[in-house]
Amino acid sequence: MNIAMSATWQKVAACRGLSTEIFYPAPEESVDQAKAVCAICPVRETCLEYALAYREREGIWGGCTERERRRILRQRRKSA
Ligand code: SF4
Repeated sequence: MNIAMSATWQKVAACRGLSTEIFYPAPEESVDQAKAVCAICPVRETCLEYALAYREREGIWGGCTERERRRILRQRRKSA
């Protein structure tokens, strides 16, 4: 799916209508609830690619934390 179609994919996101606080937990809070929602989201991969492309620094995107997204970007740079 084209990342530019963000308005479209966000319409079918599993997190649509849920509290954004779930996806932006405080440092000491668990990310489990957000990850559980992402795990059943039909647009998880598109969401993750969007976050990687736009270097989203905070929150859970595509089931990944900021640290996990940084790791993915590092791995991609190494294998490029
Ligand atoms: S992967 Fe997670 S954060 Fe991304 S749209 Fe789906 S539920 Fe929302």
